[in-house]
Amino acid sequence: MGGYGSGRPSNKQKAEDCRSLDIYKMKREGCFEPGMRGNWIWSRNENEIARIGYHYTGTALELDYRVRLSGGKWELIKQNVPLVQTDCNYGGQRTYAICPGVLNGRHCGRRVGKLFSGGRFFLCRHCYGIAYASQSEPRYDRMLRRAQKLRMALGGEPGAAYPIAPRPKGMWERTYRRKRLEIDWCEHQANIGFIEKYRHQFSGSDLKLFDDLF
Ligand SMILES: [Zn+2]
Repeated sequence: MGGYGSGRPSNKQKAEDCRSLDIYKMKREGCFEPGMRGNWIWSRNENEIARIGYHYTGTALELDYRVRLSGGKWELIKQNVPLVQTDCNYGGQRTYAICPGVLNGRHCGRRVGKLFSGGRFFLCRHCYGIAYASQSEPRYDRMLRRAQKLRMALGGEPGAAYPIAPRPKGMWERTYRRKRLEIDWCEHQANIGFIEKYRHQFSGSDLKLFDDLF
């Protein structure tokens, strides 16, 4: 059982401002072992900022947490998130969440890799109308520039197609790891921005793939 304050009074939320459950990450960290239960914890600078309880039933994820919207009362929430497995082209299986959101009386049911806590429940970004901040072009450019700068500061090429340079002499292993993570994050954000910007040029199946990825 955990809790967090949430619910910024804004109608178009930014994905970065919301806590998210990354299904792929949860699987990688062993959350989907038979009968697994535990806490999923968000932290910043190694300090815990929020947590929720989860239980893996084999076909679904039962979430268990407290939430407080816009300074209101704490509420206890139990949420059931169905999961599906699909075969990957290159072998192995990938797990997705089926968004349990209901909008205008219709069940969302989208297969997604990420759920956001934009309000009381964890739902897909379509249900919350979450705008990735990188949708605004300045941020998209800024992210790319930041990644390029970091890459060059490490002594490498600026482009994302190149491997990140090895750790410079005298730099702490931890510092280097953090910089690599930051580069990955910036480039990931820029990718999302790119897709959003050129959305109208992609086919439906391309977009479906992107939605699964992000
Ligand atoms: Zn949804």
